Amino acid sequence: MEKRELLYSGKAKSVYTTDDPDYMVLEFRNDTSAFDGKKVEQLDRKGMVNNKFNAFIMSQLAAAGIPTHFERQLSDIESLVKRLDMIPLECVVRNIAAGSLCRRLGVEEGIDLLPPTFELFLKNDALGDPMVNEYHARSFGWVEEKDLERMKELTFRVNDVLKQLFLDGGLLLVDYKLEFGLFRGEVVLGDEFSPDGCRLWDKDSREKLDKDRFRQGLGGVVEAYEEVGRRIGVQF
Ligand code: UDP
Repeated sequence: MEKRELLYSGKAKSVYTTDDPDYMVLEFRNDTSAFDGKKVEQLDRKGMVNNKFNAFIMSQLAAAGIPTHFERQLSDIESLVKRLDMIPLECVVRNIAAGSLCRRLGVEEGIDLLPPTFELFLKNDALGDPMVNEYHARSFGWVEEKDLERMKELTFRVNDVLKQLFLDGGLLLVDYKLEFGLFRGEVVLGDEFSPDGCRLWDKDSREKLDKDRFRQGLGGVVEAYEEVGRRIGVQF
């Protein structure tokens, strides 16, 4: 399917229409941003690495029965996806404390969270994606109750599938962010799953192999993403 016009350009991906109104093309760019877009850099090969990483993960999730928008990879940096009516919420699950949770609650990075936590953030750059709760999500009409329940169920099923997949590659899935949308009334996983939107640590050394390398200026960002990909079976 051919891409037609640019519909939207985000911080790391551009979205194009196709001839079919139900499908879009995602283009993964090399742009990498953090801190609400205050730190931005071009990282060579990152678009390709994230496109292939995402294609692999989405296929694994689909095989486990999780509905996703992913259809197929079109090129090194492009994938065909279903066009969803996006729900303006980010679902975050944490297996281990890190990032904003530590800043917010003053807890030590690295403590196990049992059970894993579930958090919602409103997608709103101007407000810095504030944390919201399930009542806010329903009372402001961002999502219907039944769809929110389904998002939670799918978010935890993703945890079961991916925790094990990464563990088999000697990696800990510390936390991750998912976004969902509606396709013909059904809740479907959208956006992307890549080391840009999750935290992955080496199981033994606890070395960070995700976007924290960029946030914290540790270097070797794309090399770390490729290392993670190789360990779980992504072909670059
Ligand atoms: N995350 C994301 N996009 C965002 C905010 C968070 O992909 O806009 C991911 C982030 O990479 C991490 C998880 O969600 O894997 C939890 O992020 P956290 O709340 O700790 O915020 P951060 O430390 O990234 O500011």
